[in-house]
Amino acid sequence: MRLVLVGPPGAGKGTQAEFIAENFGIPKISTGDIFRANVSGGTDLGKLAKKYMDAGDLVPDEVTNAMVRDRLAQPDAKDGFLLDGFPRNVAQAGELDRMLDELGAPLSVVLDLDVDFDEVVKRLSGRRTCKSCGHVWHLEYDPPKVAGICDRDGGELYQRDDDQPETVRHRLEVYHLQTEPLIGFYREAGRLVAIDALGPVEDVTERAIGALTPFANS
Ligand code: AMP
Repeated sequence: MRLVLVGPPGAGKGTQAEFIAENFGIPKISTGDIFRANVSGGTDLGKLAKKYMDAGDLVPDEVTNAMVRDRLAQPDAKDGFLLDGFPRNVAQAGELDRMLDELGAPLSVVLDLDVDFDEVVKRLSGRRTCKSCGHVWHLEYDPPKVAGICDRDGGELYQRDDDQPETVRHRLEVYHLQTEPLIGFYREAGRLVAIDALGPVEDVTERAIGALTPFANS
């Protein structure tokens, strides 16, 4: 299955992406994670991306598209993948279609995680990420057993710079202006499946897997 997840920042894309990818046995490819790994590693790509990320803006398309093209060429993506955070605008979606045409492997489906604005703000401000494994916890909805420490590997939890209130507001604006139009784009292309992303994480996962199962192996 070749799958794209869309939805506003804070819709739970990263969390659901982990479970969905595991369920269908496909790699999760998150552009945000790849950028963050490059920032931590101090690479040239990381230095360039950081300026945009800290401001809550999109990294330029040429840079992002080239990074995704390289990633999709890796052997583990040959039999399917889940894209989380890409495409982020209609131009990237067009570029993704071209990449997949070249590979002779069109998208199977686009899953839209639907969640309202107030909920998104609450989710983003309570989010805490593990420094070592990248797992995302939430102070209210999914707290770790020991405050500040990841249950999975004991890593230290931190709040992403771009989850600070001012940047959150700007990221939501960027989403509304640039990313939301993708939903119409994919709906018109007959590729969109939407689910309600409110409620406990396990319930949303169940809904997502139910909605996607008809597209497995397509
Ligand atoms: P995320 O973890 O998906 O919220 O991404 C964090 C940040 O990485 C975004 O606010 C952007 O600055 C950058 N980023 C991630 N994916 C993309 C993309 N497809 N296009 C441009 N910038 C991106």
